[in-house]
Amino acid sequence: MTLPSIDTEYLLNFLSGLLNTPSPTGLAEPAIAFTEQALATFPELVLKRTRKGALVASWAGEKADTPRALTAHADTLGAMVKEIKPNGRLRMTKIGGYAWNTVEGEGCMVLASAGEPLRGSILFEMASGHVHGTKVNETRREDDNMEVRLDARTMNREETEALGIRVGDFIAFDPRVEITHGFVRSRHLDDKACVACLVAAVKALHDAGLKPSQTAHLHISNYEEVGHGAAAGIPAEATELISVDMAAVGDGQTSDEFHATLCVKDSGGPYHHGLSQKLRQLADQHNIPYKVDIYPYYGSDGEAYWRAGGDVAVALIGPGVDASHNYERTHLEALLATTQWVVAYLLS
Ligand SMILES: [Zn+2]
Repeated sequence: MTLPSIDTEYLLNFLSGLLNTPSPTGLAEPAIAFTEQALATFPELVLKRTRKGALVASWAGEKADTPRALTAHADTLGAMVKEIKPNGRLRMTKIGGYAWNTVEGEGCMVLASAGEPLRGSILFEMASGHVHGTKVNETRREDDNMEVRLDARTMNREETEALGIRVGDFIAFDPRVEITHGFVRSRHLDDKACVACLVAAVKALHDAGLKPSQTAHLHISNYEEVGHGAAAGIPAEATELISVDMAAVGDGQTSDEFHATLCVKDSGGPYHHGLSQKLRQLADQHNIPYKVDIYPYYGSDGEAYWRAGGDVAVALIGPGVDASHNYERTHLEALLATTQWVVAYLLS
């Protein structure tokens, strides 16, 4: 059986729109709503929100004796206002795991809780080489020496508060989305790339007039970057869970930007061997370009569900993403391979 074709333009358009929708963990609602709006155009799906705010799209299959679930997350790394400094600039607290140098110099949006969103930049507090000399290069970046410089006239705490900014307000990093010759360069491809693959897989089946062979639940998670996204919200009837999340590319890794990867082990230990073997067989059968890899510093929402007591087989697949939790990049070939793999799984 040949797999239905994937609408590449649709995939990239959806991905670009999702990437440009700010959604740091804790305020991922805009990205959940964006995905919900896209999935609402497929009448086969029944859409529901969990009380935690995740989206579950359920599609009745040819059979329903071994229902399946797939999860991808729409929340991203980000920050919150920890403190308004006496000079009117903002100290931050990180949301998710990353190093400050990966966002230094980045533009950002401060989502003021008592005013309009404000533009700003993430900077080291001794940013100017003309003022601070070698300290610019030699100082380790820490929570207490990084700040947001607001594009607003403020010189003190009171003026910043008057802009509507409060402690606890969310800060979203500019994604800087660029698509060139099939390369997709952006922050937060982790994991919006995979949300796009799931949505594109639904469209591929829909366009071909097909339905999943088993009832399938797509869970769009909103708390993955802090470790408990899919701890709740996976329908209890599911017997298998595929976590669809980016593959780690770099020295010593087999993953790359032109393949999907099956991750067989990460920081949380091995995934379910039987389900992983089934995914390998599907990829082989359909000539889907894939790698098998192990990620040294990585956890997934599949493991979050396992830790929460989920009694299902769990496996992990996803497109290779270079410079993850930094200024990331992947290629259309990896996105298509991942989407095909999801399609093949849904039809198997
Ligand atoms: Zn992720």
